[in-house]
Amino acid sequence: MSSLGRLWVPASVLSLLLLLGSCGGGEDRANGRAGAGQRLRVVTTVAPITSIVANVAGDLAEITGIVPEGTNSHTFEPPPSAAKVVSNADLIFVNGLGLEDPTKELAEGRLKKGAEIIELGNLTIGPEEYIYDFSFPKEEGKPNPHLWTNPPMAKQYARFVAETLERRDGANAGAYRGNYERFAAKVDELDRAMAQATRTVPKPELLTYHDAYAYFARHYGWKVIGAIQVSSFEDPTPKEVADLIGQVKAEGVAAIFGSEVFPSPVLAQIGREAGVRYVDVLRDDDLPGDPGRPEHSWLGLMRFDFITMVRSLGGDPSALEAVTVEHTAPDKATYPQ
Ligand SMILES: [Zn+2]
Repeated sequence: MSSLGRLWVPASVLSLLLLLGSCGGGEDRANGRAGAGQRLRVVTTVAPITSIVANVAGDLAEITGIVPEGTNSHTFEPPPSAAKVVSNADLIFVNGLGLEDPTKELAEGRLKKGAEIIELGNLTIGPEEYIYDFSFPKEEGKPNPHLWTNPPMAKQYARFVAETLERRDGANAGAYRGNYERFAAKVDELDRAMAQATRTVPKPELLTYHDAYAYFARHYGWKVIGAIQVSSFEDPTPKEVADLIGQVKAEGVAAIFGSEVFPSPVLAQIGREAGVRYVDVLRDDDLPGDPGRPEHSWLGLMRFDFITMVRSLGGDPSALEAVTVEHTAPDKATYPQ
């Protein structure tokens, strides 16, 4: 990398240098590094990861999410327009663990020189920590990929994002590190609040439609009694529904949870027949509020879900309500709707 990336150079001098054909930002761009005055082009997939990246990068990088909010990220096929976006990217942050294979394959075939794909989930846990379950059975080879509903794991995601940005854009390393540290402090605050709120829940047990809380549950000592959605993302059979109704009655839970992204008449039926409340507003990767608003963020999403679970199960969510939601860096990412 040229020294220009590390030094402040007046724009007039820089353009003169470029005119003279010196090694400047243009060449750094070709090498996949951010040169002076050029922002890294960063591509992400699902909205919670886009938000984590935006919290670390702020407006120092150009961030584009690919997976529209409120779509099924597990079966998402990138549109033709995504090909150009990934081929221009310097960095592509994906969850990995098999979640976005079609997007990853598209990117692998089009990476420009020096560009990298970073699989945050694969960096965060090893195979010995993978959770396989009803919706993500071991025989199909893909573990449950929802690490971001576990705050310490989301903090790890942010750390890998920060380390990558610092390595690739050394001129802004201090800013990335500071953004990460502020984000990590918010994650720790949410984590402590959730641990406190958990102690007020009489029976911290989850029956959900979409199986997004496996790593969350392991961290906080909650029990996942089931998920409705089968691995093909179709509805369960009548026998499976009957079994779940029996299980919900036997467990005596206060509420069962659906997802905004996957409206489920089956779960409503289970709630009716088991005589428990059906709460259908959990969000897996659809951020609350409008883009640009503080609550439209990973933090806003987790706080909303955690409050919803705790309150619906008869616990006290006040520790969570006391966590203020704010961006730790200006969030200028593009979130496709
Ligand atoms: Zn999911």
